[in-house]
Amino acid sequence: MTTKTPTDTTVLNSYNPSTGQLVGSVPVTPVSQIEDIIAKANAALPAWQAMTPQQRADILKPAGKVLADRAEELGKLLSLEQGKPLAEGIGEVSGCASRMDWENDEVASAVQPEILKSDGIESTIHYDGYGVCAAITPWNFPLLMPHWTIIPALIAGNTVISKPSEQTPLIADEYVKILNQFLPDGVLQIVHGEDDQGKALVAGDIHLIAFTGSKNAGQHIMAAAANGLKRLILELGSKDPMIVLQGADLDKAAKFGVNNAIRNCGQVCVSTERFYVQDSIKAEFISKLAEEFKNFPVGDCNDEAATVGPMVMREQKDHVVAQIQDAITKGAKVILGNEPMDGNFISPTILDNCNHSMDIMTVETFGPVICIATVKDADEAVALANDTEYGLGAVVYGEETIARKAANQLTAGMIGVNKGIGGATGTPWVGARHSGFSYHKGPMGHRQFCQVRVVSINAE
Ligand code: NAD
Repeated sequence: MTTKTPTDTTVLNSYNPSTGQLVGSVPVTPVSQIEDIIAKANAALPAWQAMTPQQRADILKPAGKVLADRAEELGKLLSLEQGKPLAEGIGEVSGCASRMDWENDEVASAVQPEILKSDGIESTIHYDGYGVCAAITPWNFPLLMPHWTIIPALIAGNTVISKPSEQTPLIADEYVKILNQFLPDGVLQIVHGEDDQGKALVAGDIHLIAFTGSKNAGQHIMAAAANGLKRLILELGSKDPMIVLQGADLDKAAKFGVNNAIRNCGQVCVSTERFYVQDSIKAEFISKLAEEFKNFPVGDCNDEAATVGPMVMREQKDHVVAQIQDAITKGAKVILGNEPMDGNFISPTILDNCNHSMDIMTVETFGPVICIATVKDADEAVALANDTEYGLGAVVYGEETIARKAANQLTAGMIGVNKGIGGATGTPWVGARHSGFSYHKGPMGHRQFCQVRVVSINAE
C-alpha cells in the first residue's frame, strides 16, 4: 500500500486511497505565480461587476447540464480520488447539477438591491461583490464544497480563485474547467498545491476568503486576514452530539445515528461523533445500533456491496485508531468493530462507556466511530453536549416537548429534533463557536459574499 509520497514538486499527484495507485496529476501552481493570478482576478472585476446578479447567474446555468451529462464519468473520478462508494460520487455530481438552476436564481434574488422608505427618506441597500474571493476547500466533498463556495461568490459579483484540497485536485480541476466553458477570462481561476499556495493566496491582494476546512487552518487564516482586514467566511470542524432520551423512536434514532456517524467513512463535518443516551433505554438502543450497523460493509469504491470506503489518507486513519486506543485505555468498551484492516481501510466501531477524559469525546475524530456516554436525564445530556469548543450541528431524539426543550438549550448552529440537522429550503449552513465565523447557504448566507452599501435620498 502506498500513500501520498510526492517526488516531483512541480506535479501534484492524486492517489486512490483504496489501492494507493495513481489516479492522475495536475501541475502545482508555483507560489511565485500567485501574485499574477490575483492581478488577473482583479483586472476581471469591473466587467464582471457591471453585470446584474441575474445575468451572472444565467451565464453559469448551462454548466449544470454539462455536470449532469458527465455525472457518471465525473462521479467515478471523484470516488477514485476520494474513496467514497461510486453511487455517492455520482450522487455528489448530479446533486450539484440538479440544483444549479434554482440555486443560481436564489443567489441572484438574495443579492438584488432592496429599497426601504421612512420619514421622507428612501434608502437603497445594495449587495456588491467584495472583489477577489479565495475559495479554499477540503477533500471530504471534493466537488460539493467548491460548488457551494464558488457559485454564490461569483453570482454575488466577486471574481474567484479556487484552491481545492491537495488530496482531491482532479475533480476540482474538472469542475473549474466546466464553469470556465461559460465564464469570461479571469473571472474564475484555480491554484493547485498544499497550504503554501493557500497561504500565498490569503496574503495577496484579495478581499474575501471563503474557507471550509479544519479549525486550525481557519485560525491561521483568520490571523493572516487581519493584515488588510480581509473579509472571512469560515466553515470549520465540529464534534456533533446526538442526544437520545426516553420516549424516542429508537428504530428511527438508531437508523439515523449509524448512518450519520458512518457515511463517507465518518468524514463529514456534521457526522455524529458523540452519543448521549439516557440510561433507561441504553441497552435497547445499543442493540438497535448493532442491528443497523450490518448495513455498512467496508470496501473499495467500485465494490457495489460496500457502503463505506477507506479513509482519505493514512494520517487520518492513524488519528482515528489512536483516538480509539486512547478511549479503550481509559475504560471504553468495544461493542462492535475495531478490527485490524489493511491500508487506509478502517473498521467502523461502536464504543460504550465513553467520557470526556477521552480525546474521542473532545477532539474532532472525522472517522466512523459511534461513541456512547450514559446520562441520567436531559439536563445532563445537554450539559455534556455543550461541553465542547465546537458547535456546528446537534440532534435530539426523544418525546417531542422534552426534545424541543433540550434543543433550545444546545449551543450549535443547526439542530435537528427527531431528525437530522437539514433545514428547510433557504435556511443557512451555520456553525456556532469554533465551528464557524460567518456562514453560507440560503439568502442570508448568500449575502455573506457581499459588501452592503446603503444609498439614501430625500423622497419628498
Ligand atoms: P484543512 O484545513 O487541512 O485544509 C482545507 C484547505 O485549506 C486545503 O485546501 C488546504 O490546502 C488549505 N490550507 C491549509 N492550511 C492553510 C493555511 N494556513 N492557509 C491557507 N490555506 C490552507 O482541512 P481538510 O483536512 O481538507 O478537511 C477536513 C476539515 O474540514 C474537518 O475539520 C471538517 O470538519 C472540515 N469541514 C467543515 C465543513 C463545514 O461546513 N463546517 C464542511 C466540510 C469540512
